[in-house]
Amino acid sequence: MATLVFLEHHGSELLKGGLGVLSKAASLGDDVSGIVIGSGVRGLADEAGKFGAARVYVADDAQLEAPLPQPRVDVLAQLVRDKGADSILFANSVLAADTAAGLAARLDAGLNWDLVDIARNDGKLVGTRPALQDSVYVEVGWTSQPRIALFRTGSFDPVASGGAAETEDVPVQLEDFSTGARMVEQAHAESEGPSIEEADVVVAGGRGLGGPENFTLVEGLAKALGGAVGATRAVVDAGWYPYSTQVGQTGKTVSPKLYVACGISGAIQHKVGMQGSGVIVAINKDPNAPIFDFSDLGVVGDVHQIVPKLTELVEQRKGQ
Ligand SMILES: Cc1cc2nc3c(=O)[nH]c(=O)nc-3n(C[C@H](O)[C@H](O)[C@H](O)COP(=O)(O)OP(=O)(O)OC[C@H]3O[C@@H](n4cnc5c(N)ncnc54)[C@H](O)[C@@H]3O)c2cc1C
Repeated sequence: MATLVFLEHHGSELLKGGLGVLSKAASLGDDVSGIVIGSGVRGLADEAGKFGAARVYVADDAQLEAPLPQPRVDVLAQLVRDKGADSILFANSVLAADTAAGLAARLDAGLNWDLVDIARNDGKLVGTRPALQDSVYVEVGWTSQPRIALFRTGSFDPVASGGAAETEDVPVQLEDFSTGARMVEQAHAESEGPSIEEADVVVAGGRGLGGPENFTLVEGLAKALGGAVGATRAVVDAGWYPYSTQVGQTGKTVSPKLYVACGISGAIQHKVGMQGSGVIVAINKDPNAPIFDFSDLGVVGDVHQIVPKLTELVEQRKGQ
């Protein structure tokens, strides 16, 4: 079975999402190739070999500098026509979702999106997709090939297997209609520390913080732990913190090694975005808060007292 994984990059780094999908595909025993598309991206191919790609296709061309989907659809469609691929897998992002949808239309292929897992059952590829507001999981399949799949952020951790990939350049021929869009401006949000999707530690704040000004508590702990800050939808909707940090069904799915929930009740829509975390620590003044049902460690107490103490202790330990 030939599987192709779209490997998105930011600057000079391959994103964790694509590498996680690559590791998962390799674990199914398929012949897995990665593809890196951009300008000045040849150097990224070696990295993909370490995460299970037998081969990495590189489309390196100045015309691919901007992260626009249609030129990527051209490259992928041509590669599938030239080399064949039974499955083409994407880790979700704005660019990946647009590219996957465009590729499905171009190849007249079936796209299953928002998958959180994939397995081979009796030789058939079967995806797992949450449904009914993430309260149940359903199995989904494809009726034709190639199959296209888009996985939810954080579905798989990249697993370094230490291999090496062979690299192959692919020709870049863009359709006229694919060059119509132009990137006018690209802005990056100013942030310190790791992004919420990539961080090993996420410290998240909820309505229990009492007000936007108290997010400094969460920021202080995140900084001490070298982590990123997350938020619930309740506080995002209230304008306390930016949407880019929202964890949950209508926000981001994260799977850090440590997730510290401060003043968060643990609603199902929040849970689905963080339940894959390694260790979950909850601080909540209500001993009956649902978050304690799925936390590894719980502190019943006031965030305003507990969080500064915790930050102080972490800083002391670091200073030792
Ligand atoms: C379709 C849909 C999609 C949604 N998507 C998302 C999503 O993506 N992400 C998301 O988070 N939510 C989402 N929600 C909202 C979700 O249902 C909850 O309303 C939300 O998660 C609650 O946020 P919260 O825990 O901050 O607030 P609350 O539920 O109000 O909980 C606050 C908690 O803080 C505790 N507390 C209060 N004061 C203190 C204190 N001083 N010290 C310690 N603890 C204290 C309270 O005991 C309480 O448990 C969605 C809802 C719907 C209907």
